[in-house]
Amino acid sequence: MTFSKLTDGVFVVIGGTFPRCNSIVIIADEVVVIDPGCPVEDLRGFLMTHDLNLRDIDTVILSHIHPDHIVHTMRLNRLSNCRIAANEITAPLFDEKEEMKRFLGFEKGNPVRKLWEQLVNEKMYGAFDEGRVDEVLSNGDKFSLGDITLKTLYTPGHLPDHMCIEILEPNLVFASDIDLTEFGPYYGHPNSSIRDFKNSIRKLQHGKYSGFISGHLKEPLVVDYKDRLTAYSRQIGMREDLVLSSILEGAKTIPEITANPIIYPSLTHPVFLQFETWMIEHHVASLIASGLIEEDKGKLSPI
Ligand SMILES: [Zn+2]
Repeated sequence: MTFSKLTDGVFVVIGGTFPRCNSIVIIADEVVVIDPGCPVEDLRGFLMTHDLNLRDIDTVILSHIHPDHIVHTMRLNRLSNCRIAANEITAPLFDEKEEMKRFLGFEKGNPVRKLWEQLVNEKMYGAFDEGRVDEVLSNGDKFSLGDITLKTLYTPGHLPDHMCIEILEPNLVFASDIDLTEFGPYYGHPNSSIRDFKNSIRKLQHGKYSGFISGHLKEPLVVDYKDRLTAYSRQIGMREDLVLSSILEGAKTIPEITANPIIYPSLTHPVFLQFETWMIEHHVASLIASGLIEEDKGKLSPI
């Protein structure tokens, strides 16, 4: 179990890369866990170092609906009866898991829905547990926890419900899946948006935070986050160039482009081919919008 102390009362229990995530734990007037995607045993081990237990958790806050970020919410709720807080887009998805599946593109009829459900149940067991959000948040809402105040900051793109959480007094921001990993920005669902993702990155770059906390880096606190965000954002353009060159070399359809995967080069799992396809679809739409390619009767060609 590893954890980092960021400041008095603010900690990160490291979950690291997908299918886990880093969990923020705040110990102030309340015990708050943001994104319970680290192993529960590690969370328990960390709390014990502060003479606390899983039963002492008062609140769980969710940054967005992805299974790796919500996975242990209901388990913690069953143990501690903690309240669950999420924003107004996430909340109805959490309350109705069929809505969550549809939101993520895996509506009934999606050919890899069963495989995706299997993947979630194998790697993120608990993410489909039924439950209810107790407190629905809006953009800019504040949580006062004594010496520490949290504030929501909507940052869509990764998904439309994605939000960051500012930790005001120590002046940090938990950026969740604007995660600064080497993989780069993830927008692999039909309702993800490259344009919104770039705007959200810019929004964070305009913030004057003393530190930025990644949802997936094993060393989660990033101080030079403005430069790192620029490099992170640049990967979107590099992928777009690869999609364009694939079309220049003769690929005319999305399956022809994904035959040589760009996002997941060592792709073997059909669910990841679905994610690759959705990401490439966003790039194709963006290339059409910028006038670099056109689509005629389902065939793509350079202009
Ligand atoms: Zn996510």
